[in-house]
Amino acid sequence: MKTLKIAIQKSGRLNEKSVEILKNCGLSFENYKSSLIATVANFPLEILFLRDDDIPEYVQDGIADLGIVGENVIIEAGADVSYLQKLGFGKCTLKIAVQSTSTITELSQLNGKAIATSYPVILQKYLSENNVDAQIRNISGSVEIGPGLGLSDAIFDIVSTGGTLKSNGLKPFKNVMDSEAVLIASKGMELNPEVLELLQRIQSVLRAKA
Ligand code: ATP
Ligand code: ZN
Repeated sequence: MKTLKIAIQKSGRLNEKSVEILKNCGLSFENYKSSLIATVANFPLEILFLRDDDIPEYVQDGIADLGIVGENVIIEAGADVSYLQKLGFGKCTLKIAVQSTSTITELSQLNGKAIATSYPVILQKYLSENNVDAQIRNISGSVEIGPGLGLSDAIFDIVSTGGTLKSNGLKPFKNVMDSEAVLIASKGMELNPEVLELLQRIQSVLRAKA
């Protein structure tokens, strides 16, 4: 029997809940902060602990058979993987935000404007779908400071409470995408018996919670 590999986030917002759901499936493994790989004692499975950004590609390329990662990260990576199950945690919304003083009301008013983001692919797709021609400034973090510095007219980022926006003089303008953690598989692994067994266990854990 082939030992499956599942990639989960090593540390960050999805790590704890990802470990929890696997433990609730009855999987027995050691979860040391220092290890990058754990062997499950009672199921043919190894757990790889990775940066979330790397998970879609690992699964697409079949280095991991399964993965748990935010939908936003999968879409941004453009990864070709199978979606098996939404997991109900890591929920967030990606929004376009503008300065609190802005009088902008229509999307078309973003034509010719600069938008700072760490999610250029998702933003470009949305702008194209809405026939908006804006300049995307790809920045790896702290995009909220852009408008205040005159670097951009708007930002596109993950917003949860809106507190970070507010403290940087910004307000939400458009909701572009809702995201949550999902279980993904390499194309072709959906019908593997062990994958199906694991999926069934995850689904019953989710049902028990509902
Ligand atoms: P890594 O070190 O693995 O690259 P990271 O810093 O990129 O981690 P986290 O901040 O841990 O990522 O967020 C992981 C995922 O959690 C996001 O991609 C998103 O799907 C989800 N998420 C839920 N709420 C939020 C939030 N308020 N801010 C950012 N991400 C959130
Ligand atoms: Zn990341």
